[in-house]
Amino acid sequence: MSFTENLGKAETLLARYDGAPILNHIGGEDRAAASGATFETISPIDLSVIGNAARGDATDIDAAAKAAHDAFPAWRDMDGAKRRAILHKIADGIVARAEEIALLECVDTGQALRFMSKAALRGAENFRFFADKAPYARDGQSLFANNQMNVTSRRPIGPVGVITPWNTPFMLSTWKIAPALAAGCTVVHKPAEFSPLTARILAEIAHEAGLPAGVWNLVNGLGEEAGKALTEHRDIRAIAFVGESKTGSMIMAQGAPTLKRVHFELGGKNPVIVFDDADLDRALDAAIFMIYSLNGERCTSSSRLLVQDSIADAFEAKLTERVNKIRVGHPLDPATEVGPLIHQVHFDKVSGYFDIAKSDGATIAAGGERVGDTGWFVRPTLFTQAKNDMRIAQEEIFGPVLSSLRFKDEDDALQIANDVEYGLTGYVWTNDLTRALRFTDKLEAGMIWVNSENVRHLPTPFGGVKASGIGRDGGDWSFEFYMEQKHIGLATGYHKIPKLGA
Ligand code: NAD
Repeated sequence: MSFTENLGKAETLLARYDGAPILNHIGGEDRAAASGATFETISPIDLSVIGNAARGDATDIDAAAKAAHDAFPAWRDMDGAKRRAILHKIADGIVARAEEIALLECVDTGQALRFMSKAALRGAENFRFFADKAPYARDGQSLFANNQMNVTSRRPIGPVGVITPWNTPFMLSTWKIAPALAAGCTVVHKPAEFSPLTARILAEIAHEAGLPAGVWNLVNGLGEEAGKALTEHRDIRAIAFVGESKTGSMIMAQGAPTLKRVHFELGGKNPVIVFDDADLDRALDAAIFMIYSLNGERCTSSSRLLVQDSIADAFEAKLTERVNKIRVGHPLDPATEVGPLIHQVHFDKVSGYFDIAKSDGATIAAGGERVGDTGWFVRPTLFTQAKNDMRIAQEEIFGPVLSSLRFKDEDDALQIANDVEYGLTGYVWTNDLTRALRFTDKLEAGMIWVNSENVRHLPTPFGGVKASGIGRDGGDWSFEFYMEQKHIGLATGYHKIPKLGA
C-alpha cells in the first residue's frame, strides 16, 4: 500500500475515537472509569490528540480484580481443548484485524509500519503457540521412590496482573496474556498510558472470540494509580511486568505486603561484539538493524557496539555512512525506517544524551539532533570514542542511538561487555567457534545470539539477568510462572512410621 492509502485508512480508523472514549473492559462489560476521569492519548507524529482513554484507579482495579477472581474457577476447570479452541479464535481475530492494529499502533506509538505490520501477526502466533500447549499445561511428572509413588501436577496460580510498556505494546501484551490464559489464569491488564489503542482492540477480539466474562479485564490508567493498585490488590496472585528496571523495583516493593509472585522483563544495555575475524558485512547489517529498527525503542536493542581495535576505523566509517542514510519519516510511509519517539518525556530523555555525550568527551559521528519541529523525531545517532564509564555506555537510552566502544582482545571485550548493571541480550560476531563457545559462556546475559541478530524462536526462554529481569517467558517457562506445582506422595507399602507417645 502507498503512503497516501495508509494515511487514508488510518484517518478512517481514527474517526472512531472522535468523542468516544477508549473504555475499560471489566467483567465482560465496557465501562468508563468509575470516577469518570479520562486522559489524552497523543500522536507523536504531529502531537494531535487521538482520543481520550478511561483513567482507571484503585476502584476500577478492584472491580476488575473481583471479576477476574469470580471468573477464575470456571476458567481454571474448563477442559484444556476448549481453552485451546478459544485462544485460536482470538488468533483468528487478530489476523482479521492485523492491518487495523498495525496502522493504529503506528499512529499511537510512532513506530514505522514496515515493522508494525508484522508485529500484529506475531501477536497472533503467540496465541496459537500457547493455545496448542493449553491442553497439556497441567501435566506433571511421576518420580519414583521406594515405598512411595510421587506425582506432580500444575495448577494455574489464580488471577494475574499484566502490566505492559509502550514499545510494541500489542505484541508484548499477547506475549504475556496468551500463556496466562492457556495456563488457566484470569487476567487484569493495565497497558501503558502512552499507547492505549491496541490493548482495547485486543480485549474486543477476545470478547468476540467467546472468552467468558471476567477472564480478561482491561483497565487503562496511569502507572502510579491503576498500575500501583493492581500490584497491591489481594486477589491478584502474580504480576507479569514489562518495563523499566526502576519500575520493577517499585512493583516488587508494592507487591511485598501481599507476597506477589513477580515476573520482570526490564531494561537492557546490550552489547554487540564484533571480532576482527567475523563476517563484517553481516555484522554491520545486524548491528544497524538491532539498534535503529523499532526506533531503538526495543529492550533487546544492541545499544553498545564493541568493535576490535584492528578493524574499528573501517567498521565505524561504514557504519557512519549507513546511519546517515537511514530514512526518518512518517511511520505510515512504507519507505520510513525510523519514526518519531513516543512522547515528549522520552524525546527529552533521548535528546538529553546528545549533550551528555559531548560533555563526557565522546564524538557525535552521526545524528545528534532533532528532525523537524513538530513531532518527536530525532536523527539516528552514533557516538564514537565512547568509554565504558561514560553515561552513554552505561545507561539505557532507548532510542535510535548507538555508542561505539573499542576493545583490544577477547578479555578486554568480555570485561567491557559485562561491566554494566544490565544483562538482557548479547550478540557475538566471530568465525572462531571455540572463542564463541568460551565467550558466550562468560557473557552475562539471559539471551545471546552468535553471528545473528535477535531471531526469536517461541519455545526458547526469553528474559534477562542482573537488572534486566527476573524469570523467563517462552515455551514451558511461561507456565512455570503462571502455575503452581503440586506434589502428591502416595505410600505404596508399609514403611516405618515413628511412634511418638506409644
Ligand atoms: P515503564 O516502566 O515506565 O512503564 C511500564 C508500565 O508500568 C506502564 O504500563 C506503566 O503505567 C506502569 N507503571 C509505572 N509505574 C508503575 C507503578 N508504580 N506500579 C505499577 N505499574 C507502574 O516502562 P516504559 O517506559 O513504558 O517502557 C520502556 C522500558 O521497558 C524500557 O526500560 C525497556 O527496556 C523495557 N522493556 C523490556 C522488555 C524485556 O523483555 N526485557 C521488553 C520491552 C520493554
